[in-house]
Amino acid sequence: MASRKQRTLIKNAHVISPDLDLRRANVMLEGAKIALVTQEDVPSAGFGTVVDLRGKYLVPGFIDVHLHGASGFDVCDATPEAIEKIAEAKLAEGCTSFLPTTLTVANSTLKAAAKAVAAYKKNERFAKVIGIHLEGPFINPACCGAQNPAFVRKPNMREVLAISAISPVKMVSFAPEMPGGAEFAEACLANGIVPSCGHTGATFAQLLPAYDKGLRHLTHFCNQMTKLHHREIGVVGAGFLLDDLNTEVICDRIHLCDDMLRLVFWKRDLAHVQMITDSLRCSHCPDGYEFEMGGLKVALKNGEARLVEGGNLAGSTLWLNKGLKNLAEVTGLPLKDLVRVTSWNQAIELGLGRKLGKVEKGFIADLAVLDPKTFDVCAVFVEGEQRI
Ligand SMILES: [Zn+2]
Repeated sequence: MASRKQRTLIKNAHVISPDLDLRRANVMLEGAKIALVTQEDVPSAGFGTVVDLRGKYLVPGFIDVHLHGASGFDVCDATPEAIEKIAEAKLAEGCTSFLPTTLTVANSTLKAAAKAVAAYKKNERFAKVIGIHLEGPFINPACCGAQNPAFVRKPNMREVLAISAISPVKMVSFAPEMPGGAEFAEACLANGIVPSCGHTGATFAQLLPAYDKGLRHLTHFCNQMTKLHHREIGVVGAGFLLDDLNTEVICDRIHLCDDMLRLVFWKRDLAHVQMITDSLRCSHCPDGYEFEMGGLKVALKNGEARLVEGGNLAGSTLWLNKGLKNLAEVTGLPLKDLVRVTSWNQAIELGLGRKLGKVEKGFIADLAVLDPKTFDVCAVFVEGEQRI
């Protein structure tokens, strides 16, 4: 007899999914998929595993499209161990899929990082990798932030494809005002890669040629991009004027102040907002931790990771579950609206919107269980398997 699919019953869940808020729900998992979400009674007989959530939140597993590291490891360490440790830390935040994100570094380092990602993908024990996000190296040298200007180069699709041949690249953050920027955006899309405008000094007019070619994503909105001025609205203005731009938002209440978070979440279409962490290797590490990033020294002080020289913010230490808590507190919006921006929007943009990002029949059972008061992660399921 053929082996039967693993069947799990998750009882008494407070299910929160895009446009759905269902208390006292029972969720049936069959193999890797969600087989049923119901408020009807489901007898426990016949299930291999029964989990009683006692009213805790059951949300779609978070998808982080922009993160560099955690637990003392960085994607650009370019070792399989680094990717695995990062995946383990992300899983502890309720993250079930992510895009390991590289820095502006040498081509050889990017290729080595892609090899490390490919090695982890052979045995994804923790959070799953959807693909690589290259942040740079094709950025504006005047808008490096914490990226090392020594490694900045012009947009080059051949370089991207060579890396992608080692392990698939799904997103590239670049400055569209760089020579060939609009054509680069078009070439990315032709290869199934999301082009994203970031580390950019583009005027609104300079962004438009890439937008016209299909660019629809902004890297860490407001950070390292041209600000909104009343006679030149810049890329920040573009984010408000062009509602179909998918804006990444670091929800740590440091990279964007609470009023900007409210401005984004109250005034923009939430179908085009994505929570990211942009977390660095110091995430999940104690205060006082010091490290190098792309050749630049960074120190962690009071939860803020800043360059030792110049003091630029270098990225965040944010955990995804805390990001959702921040959003709920700052915006006051219902969780069934906010969970759009933590998973489903990302899934849609990456072509996985029919599989990931919802607690709904037929979707992959990538799920996080959160404490309703603290938002602490109590359990995580990846493809139906409880991994925390
Ligand atoms: Zn970043």
